[in-house]
Amino acid sequence: MSDKKPCDVDLLVIGAGSGGVRCARIAAGHGARVAVAEGRHWGGTCVNLGCVPKKLMVQASEYGDYVADSHGFGWNTEPGTFDWAKLIAAKDREIHRLNGIYVSMLEKAGVRLLTGHARFEDAHTIVTTPTGLDPKAKPERITAERIVIATGSAPTRLPIVGADLAITSDEVFSLPALPRRVCIIGAGYIGIEFAGIFAGLGASVDLVYRQDLPLRGFDEDLRTALHEAIGQRGITQHEKTSPTRIECDGDAFTVTLDNGNRLTADCVLMATGRHPKTEKLGLETTRIRTTEDGRIEIDRHFEATQPGIFAIGDVTNRLNLTPVAIAEGHILADRLYADRSREWSFDTTPKAVFFTPPLASVGLTETEAAERGTTDIYLSKFRPMRHTLSGRERRTLMKLVVDQATQKIVGAHMIGEDAPELMQGLAIAVTAGLRKADFDRTIGIHPTSGEEFVTMRTRTRVSGD
Ligand code: NDP
Repeated sequence: MSDKKPCDVDLLVIGAGSGGVRCARIAAGHGARVAVAEGRHWGGTCVNLGCVPKKLMVQASEYGDYVADSHGFGWNTEPGTFDWAKLIAAKDREIHRLNGIYVSMLEKAGVRLLTGHARFEDAHTIVTTPTGLDPKAKPERITAERIVIATGSAPTRLPIVGADLAITSDEVFSLPALPRRVCIIGAGYIGIEFAGIFAGLGASVDLVYRQDLPLRGFDEDLRTALHEAIGQRGITQHEKTSPTRIECDGDAFTVTLDNGNRLTADCVLMATGRHPKTEKLGLETTRIRTTEDGRIEIDRHFEATQPGIFAIGDVTNRLNLTPVAIAEGHILADRLYADRSREWSFDTTPKAVFFTPPLASVGLTETEAAERGTTDIYLSKFRPMRHTLSGRERRTLMKLVVDQATQKIVGAHMIGEDAPELMQGLAIAVTAGLRKADFDRTIGIHPTSGEEFVTMRTRTRVSGD
């Protein structure tokens, strides 16, 4: 600012998603005068167009399995019919409830809410413009000693002919009807989760991806087991191929692949990654630098190249997971307003993909661990008890990756029912640096799948020798 007038607030957070809300609330709790600007929806991607509605839809998609599986247990049940509109309405009510909770949490914390699109006028001044969130809101100008950019990310479309004919995860939660045939491009988190949702709800699904296995970056054994599970779910996989164009033919779409095949679908979902949301922020009025792929450059304390401006969450494009953004927001607020410092390791951040069956991981993959040193691998693949009677062909795979020199568990991986629930507990053990002997002396809970993690006695192989 050109003059020395005190700022209107100590901290202004741009974006009321998971990271921004946590940062604002904690900072206010430490006594800072805080404002949050939001132009789209309270709670951000996770609550409105991500984790929360996705998980509800995954749950909706699994009821058909329960009915079918019950026959093996003596039930004479019929599948019944599924009502898409009813699910979407119920989901929307829940999201609306959560939006209200986010607003009231911020208000209770004493945070000032600014409704509108925020734009930098200079490094300490933000102006907001009304948006659809509240068209009646007035434009505001506010000055802040510090500013946190927590604007998240947006879906990226492939630059192919007809890309705009595809929907992304921004539109998938409000489709007017359940499509009969869905073509999904990309086999990352979103592609895999929606392939599971649509298949479970009865649609026929084509999954197109350019690798030989889905979910690049996950452990190879998990990826192989997932490939098998996707096939068992009745999804057609088009591996090692990419789309070259999408065309519209009346109500249907044709997706042409680079191997010459053409797929017909009622809906094409492009799930090909996300990019940081920095456009129209007016960053050019500051000294904030972005990288070629659009992320805001930050140092280890989340500070951008303009002192006093910070960035957290997806806009920094590091590990784009809700709990990571929340942790970053909390750590930053503690450091700025309570003089507390805390760091965590990306190496032990657990993650899950909610396919049916789901998969979850914490720590290093076998390949990553083997690059660091000799590694003991423990693997177990079995049919879970439920499916001995249900008759469903579904296997569970569990894997421990152990650093041979220290005997520390450096990675745990699972595909199978309840994998994310189980992995949350294992993440504590891996974060604490527990050793294989600690797992071995832990008593199992019988009969569960989880007990397998503490009864894997025989090493399957050694890696990285
Ligand atoms: P991902 O990065 O997970 O997956 C992107 C997919 O698109 C990959 O299969 C990738 O292939 C493919 N792709 C990218 N570029 C191209 C290209 N030029 N041509 C062909 N294929 C391409 O992104 P998503 O969109 O699935 O999800 C975005 C992010 O959101 C995730 O990375 C995750 O951080 C977060 N998320 C987390 C969830 C969770 O925690 N459960 C759920 C949903 C989202 P390749 O592997 O070859 O690059």
